[in-house]
Amino acid sequence: MMIEHLLKTAVRDIVDFPKPGIIFKDITPILKDPSLCDAILDAFMIRLQDLSIDVVAGIESRGFLFGLMLANKLGVPFVPIRKQGKLPAQTIQQSYALEYGYATMEIHADAFEPGSRVLIHDDLLATGGTVAAASELVKKLKGTIAGYCFIISLDFLNGKEQLLPYSEQLISLIG
Ligand code: IMP
Repeated sequence: MMIEHLLKTAVRDIVDFPKPGIIFKDITPILKDPSLCDAILDAFMIRLQDLSIDVVAGIESRGFLFGLMLANKLGVPFVPIRKQGKLPAQTIQQSYALEYGYATMEIHADAFEPGSRVLIHDDLLATGGTVAAASELVKKLKGTIAGYCFIISLDFLNGKEQLLPYSEQLISLIG
C-alpha cells in the first residue's frame, strides 16, 4: 500500500527515548510533509466513512495534530482529552495504571451531548492504557465509541485487545 510505504519511510525510530531500552516512534517528520499529511487524512476519511461520527476526541498531545484536521474534514466538533490539570472548565477524570504508578486523563464535562458517536484518535497505540482511559471518559459522558483511529499501532503490545470491549472499529495506517 502506498500510504503504508510513505509512512514507514517517514516515521523515525529513536533508540533509548524517553528512557533506555525503549524505541520511540517519532512522527514529527510527517508534519514537515504537507502532501503526506493530506494522504493520511484521505486514508483516514476512506476508512471512516461508514462510522457516522458526531465528534472527534483527540488525546494529548500528538492526538491533537490530526484529530483537529480530521474533525474539520468530517465537519464535526473536535474535543481534547488531556492530562490532569490542563483543561480550564469543569472536567471529569479517569485514572489508569502505568508501569510505575498511575496517570489521570480528563475531558470537559460538556464536551458532547449524551448519545454522541465519538471517534477517538491518537497518533500511536501502544499498550492501549491511555485510549482505554479515554474510552471510559467517553462512556462516563454517555457517548458511544464509534471507533478508534491511529497512525501507528504497535501490534506486539496487544493494545487492540484492551479496546475491543468498547468498539471493534479500529483503524491504524501502519502496524
Ligand atoms: P499506551 O497507553 O501504552 O497505548 O501508550 C500510548 C500513548 O503513549 C499515546 O498517547 C502515544 O502518543 C504515546 N506513545 C507511546 N509510545 C510511543 C512512541 O513510540 N511514539 C509516539 N508516541 C508514543
